[in-house]
Amino acid sequence: DETVLEAENLTRKYAVGSLLRRGHVSAVDGVSLRLRRGEALGVVGESGCGKSTLARMLVGLERPDSGRLRYHGEDVTAGRRRDRHLLRAGVQMIFQDPYASLDPRMTVLDIVAEPLAANRSGTRASRRERVAELLDLVGMAPDMMSRYPHQFSGGQRQRIGIARALALDPKVLICDEPVSALDVSVQAQVINLLAGLQRRLDVALVFIAHDLSVVRHLADRVAVMYLGRIAETGDTTTLYDSPSHPYTKALLSAVPPIDRSARGRLTQRRILAGEPPSPVDPPAGCRFNPRCWLAEDRCRTEIPLLRPVDGRESACHLAEAALAEA
Ligand code: SF4
Ligand code: MG
Repeated sequence: DETVLEAENLTRKYAVGSLLRRGHVSAVDGVSLRLRRGEALGVVGESGCGKSTLARMLVGLERPDSGRLRYHGEDVTAGRRRDRHLLRAGVQMIFQDPYASLDPRMTVLDIVAEPLAANRSGTRASRRERVAELLDLVGMAPDMMSRYPHQFSGGQRQRIGIARALALDPKVLICDEPVSALDVSVQAQVINLLAGLQRRLDVALVFIAHDLSVVRHLADRVAVMYLGRIAETGDTTTLYDSPSHPYTKALLSAVPPIDRSARGRLTQRRILAGEPPSPVDPPAGCRFNPRCWLAEDRCRTEIPLLRPVDGRESACHLAEAALAEA
């Protein structure tokens, strides 16, 4: 069980506000993750929970303020040239918006071959051959390579983005909400494509989504994030069948009724009241306490740390009670 990518206590803050009223947003606050070879990890949470910042740190696009990032056991946190090189070859990103992430003036050939060219890998002819192979891998005909992005649908553009991400044979794909900009009818196709690639190429996936139903059939493990921290993490089946964190329960309740199977054994609907609080001034104690139906006094003062609870890890003082509820 080989660890490919390991994040230890990653933290990233942004300065916000004016000269008079300055503050810090903790976009990511002490997140640790371990990704094994070929496994799929779902990272789920509402917008503003720090998922995208986490994704950008995992591919080296952003440096953490503190914490460590290791790729195949090598510390690449410093972001030196060598670190960036290692990460760029081994960890690739698939972006949320397939419209914005492809240069409209480049042909598919040039887009997909770009990482190879940047890496001075092979001749122009061999790169062309590799592009044909990559397009085939993502279910597109090789003769599409002379076309431009605007000639394709959103789903096809996302396939082009995936082909480009695979060009250097990465060990990890970080997928930042790769289907949320696509039509519902196309989402499943792209998810199935990624699942197939994970198996065929033995590539590990970090699949970021705001909805638990999206990662259900894809992820081996899930990490649920709330305002910059991991609320609960464990095997997908464990989390869906018996969530131990009230926030996981609330997210599962929000899964649309068409996909009832994704709601597991959860019987009671928990409606999440309101938007998540501002990350500029997060609530003291457990950040979920203003929205939590189980909250008691200590939830407003003591920060719950991740701890083992019945076969998963949960950052809730009352995880046992939450598990026991319907
Ligand atoms: Fe709710 Fe308290 Fe658990 Fe936070 S620690 S989720 S407020 S019960
Ligand atoms: Mg995002």
